[in-house]
Amino acid sequence: MLIEKIIKSTLGIKDHRVVKVVWKEEGIEIFLDVIGKRYRECSKCGKRRKVRDRLKERRWRHVPLWNIPVFLCYRPCRVQCSECGVVVEKIPWGGGKSRLTTPFSLVLASWSKRLPMVMVGKIYGVCWNAVYSAVKQVVAYGLSCRDKSDVMILGIDEISRRKRHHYHTQGSMRAFFVGWGRDNLKKIRGICCDMWAPYVKVIKEFLPHGVLVFDKFHLIRHLLEAVDEVRREEAERLRETNPMLLKNTRYIWLKNPWNLTEAQKRQLSYLEKLNLRINRAYLLKENFRDLWSCPTRFEAKAFLKQWLWWACHSRLKPMVKFAQLLRRHQEAVLAYFDLRIDNGVVEAMNNNAKAISHRARGYRSSETFSTVLMHCLGGLDVPNWVHKFA
Ligand SMILES: [Zn+2]
Repeated sequence: MLIEKIIKSTLGIKDHRVVKVVWKEEGIEIFLDVIGKRYRECSKCGKRRKVRDRLKERRWRHVPLWNIPVFLCYRPCRVQCSECGVVVEKIPWGGGKSRLTTPFSLVLASWSKRLPMVMVGKIYGVCWNAVYSAVKQVVAYGLSCRDKSDVMILGIDEISRRKRHHYHTQGSMRAFFVGWGRDNLKKIRGICCDMWAPYVKVIKEFLPHGVLVFDKFHLIRHLLEAVDEVRREEAERLRETNPMLLKNTRYIWLKNPWNLTEAQKRQLSYLEKLNLRINRAYLLKENFRDLWSCPTRFEAKAFLKQWLWWACHSRLKPMVKFAQLLRRHQEAVLAYFDLRIDNGVVEAMNNNAKAISHRARGYRSSETFSTVLMHCLGGLDVPNWVHKFA
């Protein structure tokens, strides 16, 4: 019979065979039985052992056929293993207590990379928990065969699970480093993160040998915040005399000049002539960008020194504050010129992570969120199966 043939070849079973197929209202039930009833593989050690008895019938949800639910029904054998005791046989289509076959778990997990788990559950007529446990299984497999020994650069960024939730988590950093393993940590050469990060202390504790580099995208972001603060202060100052002058100019000062519209360019060149405080901040910001094009650390150091002097004498409080912080962390800023790493990749991943969180409308638990992120972005290996169902 055709179904028998399909089941046999897609599950790759040798010791089991289909004995009956029943099409009921709830779906297709496929009954399996062992071929030789005397010996079966022990699920713990994998050795062939003598069958002791049979358990009562179990049902596994399997990949649907023509969108009709499919169930595999089978009475598992228990073997008497001299090493493991009385153990259930190794069941080729699904291990442990899972009520889904392994191929079905793989199908659910693979769709969960592209769709929210709730939706995958709806499409396949299983509950959210079933989909999540499938994802967890696949992630656990992927993590177990992940090779961390050739990772030399780490990039750290933060993400909030829900709006306005922020996690300054030294604890999770610590857990990460411990999980990464001492030997693997020794191979890390550089680590890139935000200079405002509260976990810098933890990084230094676990990676005393690694070069700490402050991410240039974060640096620019903090610089832009300072520039914006200068604009707000000045607008406040002009409220009485000329309230319209700086109205709607926020992005003119923050955007890169080559991204401005023609109208914005005209407005900028007008404002530049007025000797405003914000214009001084703007010039400082534009000049700072040249730091990254310094060919060597030596030149970068000289450039930074000059820039810091200029910023500190700008009489613009937010800029002075930024400059002081930069000076205090100068080593990690200049370390960029030794390793030339930034968080570009991490940033892109963070955006994907936000999209994933958004499509599920946030995650209630951080454990679920991390599992899904690992699943979708971790680049983990997926268990191989004889037949590709999805
Ligand atoms: Zn055994």
